[in-house]
Amino acid sequence: MSKRDYYDVLGVSRDSSDAELKKAFRSLARKNHPDKNPDDPEAESRFKEIQEAYAVLSNAEQRRRYDMFGHDAPGGGPFGPGGFEGVNISFDDIFNGGGGFDSFFSQFFGGGGGSHRSTRGNDILIRHRISMEMAMIGGETEIEADLLVPCDACDGRAAATPDGVKTCSTCSGQGQVAQNRKVGPFIQQVVSDCPNCNGSGRMITDPCKACRGEGREKKNQTIRFSVPAGISDGTRMRMGERGEPRRGGGGRPGDLYIQVNIDEHEWYERDGSDLLMALPLGYPDLLLGTTVHLPHVDGKELKIVVGPGSIPGETIEIKGRGFPQSRGRGRGDVTVLLKLFMPDKFSKKTKQHIEQLKGEIGINIDEIEDLVKKEARTRRRTR
Ligand SMILES: [Zn+2]
Ligand SMILES: [Zn+2]
Repeated sequence: MSKRDYYDVLGVSRDSSDAELKKAFRSLARKNHPDKNPDDPEAESRFKEIQEAYAVLSNAEQRRRYDMFGHDAPGGGPFGPGGFEGVNISFDDIFNGGGGFDSFFSQFFGGGGGSHRSTRGNDILIRHRISMEMAMIGGETEIEADLLVPCDACDGRAAATPDGVKTCSTCSGQGQVAQNRKVGPFIQQVVSDCPNCNGSGRMITDPCKACRGEGREKKNQTIRFSVPAGISDGTRMRMGERGEPRRGGGGRPGDLYIQVNIDEHEWYERDGSDLLMALPLGYPDLLLGTTVHLPHVDGKELKIVVGPGSIPGETIEIKGRGFPQSRGRGRGDVTVLLKLFMPDKFSKKTKQHIEQLKGEIGINIDEIEDLVKKEARTRRRTR
């Protein structure tokens, strides 16, 4: 189905004035509003079509483009590759008149495309360190910080009384103003923050004394949050609208981000969901085998069974005792690297004992060439 002409959709002539466009839109939008036509599945698509036509024709720049190129403007349609998404205008918005619905349409073109950034407070980032135990098991934790919160005295309004907040007359409360700028032979519409209200759309006539019209104050806050089990180092958790309130009140607060960093463990290194550690053992432990018990990150004991005849450099894998893996795929492993513990000093007596054992546990230096060859063969096989 080919796209209908925008003027046809609104039932107006090509030289209709802005006022005529608005009148036509309001009348059609009222008739076709989905809330008024709950039993008509077509109403919603008609409503969207009317909105799209009005969005384009009510914008001087877009209307000029449409008049010139129709639906096949070079560089694609004005709403980008996804096309027109529709706006959620309530029946009240249309019914009450006053052109309040124009703000829904002015957001489509020019400027930042409706993401009124200046009406939001700043985002805040707090860094927080947790133990490896907490990172593995997860749990509730809290942070204390001095943060800006809405002023208590004025309820974040910035004005001492509710009547002290007025709509900015320069931008009619939109926070943005459109200016026509001449660029070469063209007139370009540029939307920028309203200089009178700094983009807030509001004017304060009786600033709150407690916050001097800032609408916010610094307070010691306790932020409670839960750490998910298996969290990675450096994860940022977002708490929507818990950041700074906007200076001068109004708008939405920014978001609060908590960046979680994990403390180094006394012996483990973490590799994804696996944990790595080195275990120094004496020669007799490696020769005869031994069992080592260590307190583990999961709160339970870790039992490491070292078999007889173990060699330094070998590893022991303990399955399922690492960090939780994503999507419930169980837990990673613990890898234990065996090391030979070498005492700093031996007493004369010990040296004598070892000397006696040399024939049994040492090597015969005359066979060194064969041993070196054997070692090389083993190395190449396992590589
Ligand atoms: Zn205040
Ligand atoms: Zn303003």
